[in-house]
Amino acid sequence: MTDLALGDRHSRPIDGLGKEAEMITVLLRVGSVTGKVNRQHMLVCLTNLTARLHGVVRAIQVDVEGDISVVRPNGAGPINAMEGVENLATWANGGRISVLPEDGTADIIVDLTGEGASGADLYCWGAGWKAWIGHEPHRFGRGSDRQECIGPYLAACLVAGELFKRAKGLRKGRFADDDAYSLWDGSAGRWDDLDDGPNLVGSHLRPLYLIGAGAVGQGFIQILGASELADTFVVSVDHDHHDKEGTNLNRCFLAGIADIGHLKTDAVARYRALSGLGGMEHAGTLRGYIKGLRLGLHPQLAEAEANDEFDLVISAVDIDTSRQDIQGLHPRIVMGGSTDSLRAQSVTYGLVEGTECLGCWNVPNDYVASAAEREAALRAMSEADRRRELAGHVDDLDAAMAFLASKQPKCGQIGERDVKSFVGRIAPEFSVSFVSMTAAILTAAGLFRVVSGETELRSPKTVFQFKNLSMTETATPRRDGCPYCSGKQNPRGR
Ligand SMILES: [Zn+2]
Repeated sequence: MTDLALGDRHSRPIDGLGKEAEMITVLLRVGSVTGKVNRQHMLVCLTNLTARLHGVVRAIQVDVEGDISVVRPNGAGPINAMEGVENLATWANGGRISVLPEDGTADIIVDLTGEGASGADLYCWGAGWKAWIGHEPHRFGRGSDRQECIGPYLAACLVAGELFKRAKGLRKGRFADDDAYSLWDGSAGRWDDLDDGPNLVGSHLRPLYLIGAGAVGQGFIQILGASELADTFVVSVDHDHHDKEGTNLNRCFLAGIADIGHLKTDAVARYRALSGLGGMEHAGTLRGYIKGLRLGLHPQLAEAEANDEFDLVISAVDIDTSRQDIQGLHPRIVMGGSTDSLRAQSVTYGLVEGTECLGCWNVPNDYVASAAEREAALRAMSEADRRRELAGHVDDLDAAMAFLASKQPKCGQIGERDVKSFVGRIAPEFSVSFVSMTAAILTAAGLFRVVSGETELRSPKTVFQFKNLSMTETATPRRDGCPYCSGKQNPRGR
């Protein structure tokens, strides 16, 4: 149990927040949830987010009655609500952050009832395409019969974000006051003034591809599965496993402790079966998928692929070379979800004239050059500094030191492998559950908007910043010289 580093990614220093978290016990006041689908979605998503906040949340106390009927990342079918969220937390974290009954010791009380009673520190509500968070009660009459998950899931992300900011201490930005958001028109303001979107339950979604089944990809699949669409077929492509240290688990929403070391696409396949979402998985690279045999592929996709056509691709990868590979297929529409510290964003590429493609600005770094630079820096250090820098990061410290000390190191010299692997490693970046889920929500909402026939896109890019709770829309122009946009690598002229 001690060899895992489950909270590693969100324990990394981040601008605007304190360094150390003061751990909190949170109480979720939910009331009776039987038949109240939006509240069930809020509860399931918030439990799944907070149960992964290792080193930040100590325990999750829940005051809830009745049954849950919505699909959960680890199960489906009606279940007693308390039992359902207890199982979810244990599955996600192996008992490290437990769901417990209320005992009066909570540091922060969150109200999810929408009934406007006082006594809580935070209040939230999500229904349809809208989400709200505040520090004063607000009574919600409208929207509570909506079945969509996107609004409730965003409300859950808003709460998890506030808990994280409170535990870490906020140095730049602000806490929630009375903040509502509409995923339909991308606006922020007061709940009553915001427009809701159309009904999604039972709606049709044409078949699509998801490239990347990590944090954002799994969140995206979770949303599709919980949206009760009439028919959908998702081809999910990812070659990666959940890492053996468990650092992916703080934001891989469809994976539990037992999935450590297993393929990310396995978690997707299991949840698809639970939720009835159609699709297939390819446990390999996108290049491998294109070259391989696609058994069980949706006939519409098979026909398009035969003509070398890709209609709709979701990019949930976090490496620029993978983004280049996706753009290289020249899909008609690409929707990309990504995160950068406490910022979530989604971009729709290919619909607005003159704006960037996925390949424009996501140009890969020259890893060979930067690795050579790091090796030169190591060689310039004093022996003591060099030893300190490498200690704990290489298998054979003495061999690595000897390799760096030799004036003309020979290729294949002992210690070389240690040093090359050290300098070639990319420092892992900060990432946290609620930001990844928000990127998935923004991406799914963008997709639902496009397929609902809402072709009048406002701006292709939506950015949510948790530090100051802003949701903004922007557009980025094309990059001069982008090979995809200039048509050099675009045989069909799209
Ligand atoms: Zn471009």
